[in-house]
Amino acid sequence: MATIDYTDRRRMRLDVEFYFAAAHRLPRYQGPCFRMHGHNYKFFIGLEGEVDPATGMIADFGVIKQVVGDKVLARADHQVLNDFLENPTAENIARWIWEALVADLPGLVEVRLFEIPDSCVTYRGPGGRP
Ligand SMILES: [Zn+2]
Repeated sequence: MATIDYTDRRRMRLDVEFYFAAAHRLPRYQGPCFRMHGHNYKFFIGLEGEVDPATGMIADFGVIKQVVGDKVLARADHQVLNDFLENPTAENIARWIWEALVADLPGLVEVRLFEIPDSCVTYRGPGGRP
């Protein structure tokens, strides 16, 4: 049986994908997005850290899904984002997601939010990797 040597302290990254549907309008934008409309948002969160030699993991996927469900999806899914973000651009939503999660997800390094399938923003907040 192969054994894995974690003594090299090699860093590991994991990414988990989430979805929510929400309405928004961009009050500072001159164009169609000024009007109320909706998106099926997709986002990834990225965590990095050392692999725990005992568990063989850097984080528990189940815990991550619970935290994101409580802190982001329960607040954003099927909501009007303008109710809690004055200017809910993709950039500002990604930052809001980061701030909602960072206290509860050690190792959070990145939030990548897709507003439409071919376009996304990536936020690496304070403490995130450059
Ligand atoms: Zn939009």
